[in-house]
Amino acid sequence: MINLIQSIFSKLSSRPDTRRYPFKKREPMEGSRGHIDIEIDKCIFCGACQKRCPSNALTVSRDPKSWSLNPYACIVCGYCVEVCPKKCIVMNAGHFTPPA
Ligand code: SF4
Ligand code: SF4
Repeated sequence: MINLIQSIFSKLSSRPDTRRYPFKKREPMEGSRGHIDIEIDKCIFCGACQKRCPSNALTVSRDPKSWSLNPYACIVCGYCVEVCPKKCIVMNAGHFTPPA
């Protein structure tokens, strides 16, 4: 019981152990893979990324021109980044914002 009271007073006088998310976000850790981003203006819709994707997270169409990612299927392996001939897909270590 005494330990509990000591613990309560100790916590009351110290900084909280948690962050005030979403007001205070943690910076990505070193080595974090985060998510992928695309510069769609550079994309030629060749479909190489879709063919290489092991989790079928990408859908590319030449006609009509479209490129889409299912962020919940993506395992952030980076294979699409490696094969893209235009280097328009990049790994982004930052926080992922789910689509609206
Ligand atoms: S590999 Fe690159 S250029 Fe080709 S469709 Fe994918 S993102 Fe576009
Ligand atoms: S990072 Fe990997 S899983 Fe995600 S879209 Fe690219 S190839 Fe597919």
